[in-house]
Amino acid sequence: MDFKKAGINTRSVHAGCRPDPLHGAVSVPIYQSSTFAFDSAAQGAARFNGDEAGYIYTRMGNPTVAALEEAIASLEGGHAALATGSGMAAIATVLFTYLEAGAHLVGTDCVYGPSRVIVERHFRRFGVQSTFVDTSDLAQVRAAIRPDTRLLYVETPENPTIRLTDIRGCAEIAREHGLLLVVDNTFATPVLQRPLEHGADIVVHSMTKFLNGHADVVAGIIVAATEEQRAALRDVLNHHGGCIDPHQAWLVHRGLKTLGMRLGQAQRSAQAISEMLHDHPAVSWVRYPGAADHPQHDLAKQQMDGPGAILCFGVRGGLAGGSLLLERVKIPTLAVSLGGVETLIEHPASMTHASLGRAAREEAGITDDLIRLAVGCEDARDLLADLKAALDSLPRAAPVEAEPAFA
Ligand SMILES: *Cc1c(COP(=O)(O)O)cnc(C)c1O
Repeated sequence: MDFKKAGINTRSVHAGCRPDPLHGAVSVPIYQSSTFAFDSAAQGAARFNGDEAGYIYTRMGNPTVAALEEAIASLEGGHAALATGSGMAAIATVLFTYLEAGAHLVGTDCVYGPSRVIVERHFRRFGVQSTFVDTSDLAQVRAAIRPDTRLLYVETPENPTIRLTDIRGCAEIAREHGLLLVVDNTFATPVLQRPLEHGADIVVHSMTKFLNGHADVVAGIIVAATEEQRAALRDVLNHHGGCIDPHQAWLVHRGLKTLGMRLGQAQRSAQAISEMLHDHPAVSWVRYPGAADHPQHDLAKQQMDGPGAILCFGVRGGLAGGSLLLERVKIPTLAVSLGGVETLIEHPASMTHASLGRAAREEAGITDDLIRLAVGCEDARDLLADLKAALDSLPRAAPVEAEPAFA
């Protein structure tokens, strides 16, 4: 079947899967093999020189991995996808492919921390320069571009501030200046946002989050729009070695089949939670793209098929109030990461974004009172009651803090 016209859930379930020719297994077999036998010396030679399709060695390709890659390429509307051992391996592979000494990158200031560290600390050693700006403001993107800029790297929605970047606007700027637009689509997933449809060139994901969805695998993937990109990325991935293990790929593919259902359930709960938080006296401010008062509510409707399952908010009493809340909730687990079936709660200023330092955090809009909630698949009723009870128990006298500034 050609899945091009099928719905996203049909593709999540079926794309990349065909009954196994040997025994008819419905689930893609786990080809837990590092190497693949050739029928003849001539066949081995033909596989190596590209005259014959087929597998050689798992770092260069594996049937279980290929099934997952086909599924995600289909969901994103891409030409092909390349699975990697982590989200960071996907990001590093893209940067290695498209940057060289003397090149300059413009990126979202509040990207996933390690995505900025790899550029500013490691690529810098090889002569790559960078400017990170608030890409939710396209004027800042334009102003940061230099004659040596090669790549525009965007994360939207961004973490943990839940600001959005206009992908189409960035694609126009990228076209004008001959830049490659790379979008980290981890937070939205292809169920809610398909950056290639808005003009992005390459999409990267941490599959550790929603795509796998069960908090039990670390993995990543790159989606390429053209054969030329696929070949260039494949060459770097083969030689840098960031490949995924077939068993991990199988686990992610199993998780992927329920992506739409999981995200739908989590998103409905997130909407209800954002409304409860909005009305709660212990909450200073809430930011969720599904709320009419999110400064980019209209952009969310334009480029996303739903507001997602992650929100942030401030509690009265800043860090102290937030710490109390973190300890008093019973259902959300106090942990970093997101996108699993369990609801996770964390405090970025003291955890995921502590290493940024206070000045950089303030600049990026990560205030001390900001709490990030990554909503999971529990019943909304239970999550609401639990959060409300914890909020009700907070001291009432604490001051309300202002919502962090928004571009
Ligand atoms: C987690 C994450 C990454 C890194 O992925 P790993 O699988 O942990 O290497 C990159 N980008 C975003 C937005 C993430 O949330």
